Amino acid sequence: MGTRDAVSKAPEDQYTAEPFVPAKARSLNTLREAAAGCRGCPLHRDATQTVFGAGNAHARVMLVGEQPGDMEDREGRPFVGPAGRLLDRALDEAGIDPGDAYVTNAVKHFKFTQAEPRKRRIHKAPSLREMTACGPWLAAELALVEPELIVILGATAGKALLGSSFRVTQVRGTVLEEEIHGRRERLVPTVHPSSVLRADDREAAYRGLVSDLKVAARVLA
Ligand code: SF4
Repeated sequence: MGTRDAVSKAPEDQYTAEPFVPAKARSLNTLREAAAGCRGCPLHRDATQTVFGAGNAHARVMLVGEQPGDMEDREGRPFVGPAGRLLDRALDEAGIDPGDAYVTNAVKHFKFTQAEPRKRRIHKAPSLREMTACGPWLAAELALVEPELIVILGATAGKALLGSSFRVTQVRGTVLEEEIHGRRERLVPTVHPSSVLRADDREAAYRGLVSDLKVAARVLA
């Protein structure tokens, strides 16, 4: 068993994508190809494929979500499902061109539960260990894209970037400045678009998302 295979069979506190991230990668494509073979934690075993970030390589804004959903896992691209469509609409309405953004997730493999084979796969939140393991990919994306602003989509992305005490309800729609992976970053947190789709009052939840994204748009203006 090689070192790389050993990582995903290691104890939880040793999960890490680090050995799979090419040193000094010069392009997102290089990172994307390497991430396709990541075995840094056990999530690769049941998922279809790695879902790496996508979008404008020189984007001024990077949007970070939680993890790929069922459709993203099958298609291999982030935010292609209903939540992604809703996010595009909200960005557009807030004055941010979705085509100018880079979108990615804190965790690059789909985590799910499934009662029986061929039954629907139900999203399961990644653990802190899995988020930490996948962190080197996000750090490498940030180092290459160098966005002026990060939009945090939901609690998991916030915890992955800012630590486990992050509470999206306390800081949504505000501009934060924090040191992340050695860079001073500006961040605007908001909810994950999938939470809008699940909300009892979808219209109010959608308006809240747009309002937070308008804060991001003002930072970029
Ligand atoms: S979730 Fe991240 S660390 Fe785990 S195997 Fe996938 S890409 Fe690697």
